[in-house]
Amino acid sequence: MKILDDISAELEDIKAQSLWKAERPILSPQSSHIEVAPGREVLNFCANNYLGLADNPELIAAAKEALDSHGLGMASVRFICGTTDLHRMLERRIADYLETEDSILYAACFDANGGVFEPLFGDKDAIVSDSLNHASIIDGIRLSKASRFRYANGDMDDLERQLDDARRTGARRIIVVTDGVFSMDGYFAKLREIRALADRFEALLMIDDCHATGFIGPKGRGTAARAGIKADIVTSTLGKALGGSAGGFIAAAKPIVDLMRQRSRPYLFSNALPPPIVGAALKAIDLAEQGDDLRERLFANMKRFRSGMARAGFKLLPGEHPIIPVMLGEAKLAQDMAAKLFEQGIYVTGFFYPVVPQGKARIRTQMSAAHATQDVDAAIAAFTHVGREMGVI
Ligand SMILES: *Cc1c(COP(=O)(O)O)cnc(C)c1O
Repeated sequence: MKILDDISAELEDIKAQSLWKAERPILSPQSSHIEVAPGREVLNFCANNYLGLADNPELIAAAKEALDSHGLGMASVRFICGTTDLHRMLERRIADYLETEDSILYAACFDANGGVFEPLFGDKDAIVSDSLNHASIIDGIRLSKASRFRYANGDMDDLERQLDDARRTGARRIIVVTDGVFSMDGYFAKLREIRALADRFEALLMIDDCHATGFIGPKGRGTAARAGIKADIVTSTLGKALGGSAGGFIAAAKPIVDLMRQRSRPYLFSNALPPPIVGAALKAIDLAEQGDDLRERLFANMKRFRSGMARAGFKLLPGEHPIIPVMLGEAKLAQDMAAKLFEQGIYVTGFFYPVVPQGKARIRTQMSAAHATQDVDAAIAAFTHVGREMGVI
């Protein structure tokens, strides 16, 4: 089998380049403390479980309640016979929470981003995208016939140039697209400046708020609320802070959402979200909206980890997001350090080229409201111990 041999060679090549991604089975629910082998518990600092809701008893109860009242799944796309009262309630709830007119659910934010551009932007239109935007945005843009303009990450002069170029092509509709938070660095998009530029060039603004919805900005309404601006389109996930299960959405003005229901392919041709997930998401938004205490704990943990690690001599990327990258430089160092920390009971992951630039390898830590102060201190102590042993600090 020539084809399988070729594929095997490709896999060997991935391993030879140290780019192989192994998966570690977890035996317990997702949380700050997880079981990774029978009787072996570690502290988890690499989940997107920002509010600590992934194993929340109220969410699990809400999922069970919806399971009993509406069953496991719909066996249908939404427009044939896959819409329950719960689906519409959740879409209204998301829209109210994010202060938009309406919203529409997808199986994942990957699908929301994959399906949002093609119905709205054709060959007369232009999409202006940040160079570090999420893979699903890049794929979604590829699926539309619009002309594409890319600006260097966070570079407002370049954004202005690209918008100017887009205008000069005589584009009918223009949209600027950005992640609200760039997840490798934990940096926020410069939304006030981006909004002002978009307005000047009469362009729409779309924000992917996956690493913000539920915990950034007042009441966790996201990066636009934090910046005091409005986006025209927000895409986000139910798979991170809002309970960590599955599902994504687009929140926008009603005509945009209505067009998605008619034309967006991942919505039209894919099964409806299962009712237990919808039921749990309704509860997750309640808990997020009322979750000032959770956000307070999350950001207290962030500050404690940042200051403890800086005091120990580690090089961190500066910022105000619970994503805290510990900069190490070489890929091997990041991998070896993550392995040693795991032996010490701290679960973190190394990130290296091609996910981040060459020579900028790092361990990306993520704080959660589920971490106790002792958990954060234990992580700082383990980093300090391993860091000294390896000559990093
Ligand atoms: C996680 C993530 C996604 C994908 O969300 P899913 O719901 O898991 O598909 C999309 N965009 C960004 C910026 C993300 O971080």
